[in-house]
Amino acid sequence: NQQEFKQMMDAHALATNFYSHILLNTVEGEKALEYLEKRGFSRASIEKYGIGWALDDFEALSGLLKRKGFNMQEMERSGLCIMKDDGTGYFDRFRGRIMFPLWDDTGNVIAFSGRSLYEDKEVAKYLNSPETPIFEKGKVLYNLHNARLNIRKTGKVILFEGFMDTISADHVDVGNSVAIMGTSLSESHLLKLKRIAKELIICCDGDSAGWEAAKRFATIANANGMNIRIALLPNDMDPDEFIQEYGGEAFREQIIGNPHSYMSFIMAYAKRSKNLSYENDVLQFIHEVLEELALRPSPVERDLYIRQLSEETNVSVEAINQQFIKMAGNRA
Ligand code: ATP
Ligand code: MN
Ligand code: MN
Ligand code: MN
Repeated sequence: NQQEFKQMMDAHALATNFYSHILLNTVEGEKALEYLEKRGFSRASIEKYGIGWALDDFEALSGLLKRKGFNMQEMERSGLCIMKDDGTGYFDRFRGRIMFPLWDDTGNVIAFSGRSLYEDKEVAKYLNSPETPIFEKGKVLYNLHNARLNIRKTGKVILFEGFMDTISADHVDVGNSVAIMGTSLSESHLLKLKRIAKELIICCDGDSAGWEAAKRFATIANANGMNIRIALLPNDMDPDEFIQEYGGEAFREQIIGNPHSYMSFIMAYAKRSKNLSYENDVLQFIHEVLEELALRPSPVERDLYIRQLSEETNVSVEAINQQFIKMAGNRA
């Protein structure tokens, strides 16, 4: 109900200020601040994105919420607190993590993602709020409220896999990006994006998981009739790492400014896992690209990519054309 929603949002606003205060103004926050500085976060980014630090303490936030008169059962449903096993009270969900607020489309904080300071595999790198009455993970597009105007102005929206990439891109004046929260790209996401942008630029991490994600995102975006392009990164780098290594200008010009069309991405995707000096790989490569081409309505695209396939494989255009017709026949 409305009353409970309001309490939960108020608690998240309070928590945001609390975490931020601890990061910026206390000794306990120094280690986290140092971590963020080392990663290239500016003071302005930290403030704009409301980043904070959750003390390594079981009662820091719970205690504050209780003192402020919040209903603690409601606070448990909001994801901020967890009830003790013996039912005698509540403790903080987020402890010893860098806190990133997650907003709804109008800029209310509705959840958090907490990042561990460490890379070791024993602890989860990110801990997210659970699904709650105010937080549906599959609907959140991180940064949409900040990026909306830039998206409208440029007609383009960039989609990243990680919210770190969004903050990093914004820092180098790429302000029209959003990220999903480690979920799949949903119809709800696409509907929102389609309403405000003419073109979607998918920019996933350069590792295998990222290539697979890009393929999935592109497929579902195509199915929803969205104009898309795909920006590719050098091997195993993610957008944030690229920006740290090569800077904003390189990112804007080489990566975001030079995205692939869907078919051009498919060519790169199909080639990625193959060695074209092996006959089997050549056959498989041609097969995969033709399968995609068969789904495309444009004869011009067909002509273009069949010629490109021929150039890359040294198989004649005639033979590839015949193969294409044969595959179409098999399908019919
Ligand atoms: P960092 O640069 O801090 O390592 P990242 O943005 O590169 O972070 P990725 O590992 O590429 O993180 O993951 C992309 C997204 O997937 C994250 O933003 C997060 O939403 C989600 N994710 C990754 N690891 C986890 C995890 N252990 N638990 C929950 N979500 C996760
Ligand atoms: Mn990744
Ligand atoms: Mn990443
Ligand atoms: Mn990263």
